[in-house]
Parts: sequence; structure tokens; C-alpha cells
Amino acid sequence: MKNKIYFDYASTTPIAKEVKEDIGAALEDDLLGNASSLDHEFGVDASQAIELARQDIAELINAETAEIIWTSGATESNNLALYGVCNFKPQGHPLSIASSYAEHKSVIEPLMELKRKGHRVEFIEPNKDGYLDPASIAKILDRGLDLFSCMHVNNEIGSVNDIALIGSMCREKNIIFHVDAAQSIGKLPVDVEQNNIDLMSLSAHKIYGPKGIGALFINQRTVGRLQPLMSGGGQERAMRPGTLATHQIIGMAAAYRLAKANMENDLIHLTKCRDLFLQLTGDIEGLMINGDTHNTFPGIMSISLPDLHAESLLFAMDKVAISKGSACSSESDEPSHVLKSMGLGREEIEGTVRVSFGRNTRFKDIEVLTQSLKKAVDHLRLLKGGI
Ligand code: PMP
Repeated sequence: MKNKIYFDYASTTPIAKEVKEDIGAALEDDLLGNASSLDHEFGVDASQAIELARQDIAELINAETAEIIWTSGATESNNLALYGVCNFKPQGHPLSIASSYAEHKSVIEPLMELKRKGHRVEFIEPNKDGYLDPASIAKILDRGLDLFSCMHVNNEIGSVNDIALIGSMCREKNIIFHVDAAQSIGKLPVDVEQNNIDLMSLSAHKIYGPKGIGALFINQRTVGRLQPLMSGGGQERAMRPGTLATHQIIGMAAAYRLAKANMENDLIHLTKCRDLFLQLTGDIEGLMINGDTHNTFPGIMSISLPDLHAESLLFAMDKVAISKGSACSSESDEPSHVLKSMGLGREEIEGTVRVSFGRNTRFKDIEVLTQSLKKAVDHLRLLKGGI
């Protein structure tokens, strides 16, 4: 056990006890069968367990079971959604796609590649609080799009897009609407039917499930408009071939059932964590909270101290595990594209750290966190000849 308190739930979450138990049971010989080998009961049992798991995923988002395709996580789901629509042969002409600069790299990079391949791709900027203004979306939708893609909850600052409104705007114009919901499923209610969502990317490890498993929701009206990324044995109605990972899928379903049961309490708990954090850091001179402080997902806080460097802060805060921002971009030294798109300057971005809370965060942990932050800030400012 590491000697640090974990505050990086936006990057990944610990696997819940119940999920571990279900995964353990799924690894026993009873479920050893290949879910595609339906000639004997081992395969049939595995297949039935997977179909039950599919129901748990579908129930959480109000989808039909046939609309859920297993993938390795939200990165693959985003790729399958975006390349899938654009590579669909019968269309045979460049498509018009729009998204935002605040998206995760697993949306931005495929879109950049699609642009290089000749599709018309445009990105809109989020507002200063990190979410998309309906007016700027309306403007871009009016140009005549085939596909609009945006995230629900932003992984760096916790801003929440109004997917119900965006969904209705897209449906009115018959534009395919893709939502990257990696950070929101199981944390905020999402109803794909009511919100007019056509494609939605899901991940298990952001909600106390195992890593390496996720799903793409593809509704009935869009399924015929997608080209798979791979060809092979025809599993998942040929949309995503390959032997299914029974234990991972069962783990994801257990995590989603747990999320459904806990969503309301989790949200209340995270809101209390956020409020305590804001209260205890209110007297830190020069501390900026990025994005709206209250109209956001409360589990993710992005804070900037423009006179300090994030690396120095992380190094000086020895008792806690926090991050500079997105884990998926932390291997590159580029400044956060999300914060840049919200209009933050270089010093503000360089002095930004992300703190994220979860089900296991205790209020006394937040006291340790804020004390550690204050100590680090004082120490670093003193070294600089400070304020
Ligand atoms: N989208 C968002 C918003 C994310 O936060 C992440 C994970 N950092 C992903 C996509 C990628 O998810 P996965 O790790 O399941 O591939």
C-alpha cells in the first residue's frame, strides 16, 4: 500500500470490493468457455453471463441491450464512433464533422486524422467555464453537419455539457450525435433516449470497474451507418470482432449496478468534498479555480497558482497523489489544450493541478490535502523570495 492519499479519481478509480468478487467468480472454470462457442454449455454459460451484463449496462443509460457493443474502453469507443461513421463506404463522400477543442485526445486525434484524409472537420471553443455555449453549437450545426461529437463531463475541469439540449438540436437537423461519456456514466444520470444520443462511449475503470473494458452505445437508427475498425470472427454483430473478455465484462456490469444504486449518495458525498475543499482553500492567496465552482461535476477540481509550477507543487505535496491534468496527456510536455481553449494564459496553465475525489475520499483526507497544499505553497513562495 502506497503511503499517499489518492486524489486522482478522474484518471482512474480503485476497483470496488463487489466488483473484485464478481470478477474473481467469473475467473473460475464454470465460465471458462468462449462466449462464441455455443456447441457446449461452457460457451453457452459464458454467453449468457455476458448478455446479463449487457442488460446492466443498457439499463443504466436506458438503451436496448442490442445497442451495446463491448470495446476495450472509451478510447476505442471514440475511435469506433468517429472512424466508423466516416469510413462507412456507401456515403463515399467527405463528411462534415464538428467537435470542440476541450475534447479528450481520443476524440481530437481521430478527428485530426479524418481531416487529413479529406473530411471537413471543425472545432469550436468552449466558453471560459469550459463548456459549450448553445449559441456557438447552433451556429456550427446550421452549416450542415453529418456528425457532432462532444464530451459530457470534462476530464480536466469537470465542466458539464448540456447533452439534452445539444441532442435535441442535433436530432432536429438529423445530425448524428456522439457523446464521450467516459467521465459521467454512473456519476450523473444519462438517458440516451431522452437525450437523443446516437453514439455514446463508455468506460469501466472511471467508475470503480476494471481497466481495459468499455462499450459503445450505437442506437438502432445509426447502426447501419458505421463501418467496423477491425474484421475477424463476427462477434458483436461484426461491429467489434474478437473473443469477449468475460471476466472484464462481468466486472464492468457489477460496477455499473453499483453506480446505479449509489449515484445519488455518491453525488451528495462529492459535493460535500468539493465544498469542504473550496472552504479550506479559500484563504490561499492567488488560487484560481478553473471553470465554474458550482455548476460542474463536483468530483473534479482544477486549480491554478500562476506564480508557481505544477511540477514543483506535486513534488512538494508529499502525502497526496494529485495530477497535473489529464493522465492521457501527461507523457507529453504540451500545455493542456483544454485550459488553453478556455483562454488561460501560459503561467496559469503551468501552475495548474487537478484534484479529483471519489467514493472513498474521507473529509479528513481533504483536510490533509488542503494542509499539504498550503504548506507546499508557502514553502515554494518562500524559496522564490515570495509574496
Ligand atoms: N474520454 C475521456 C473524457 C476520458 O477522461 C478518458 C480517460 N482519461 C477517455 C476518454 C479514455 O478512456 P479509456 O481510458 O477507457 O480509454
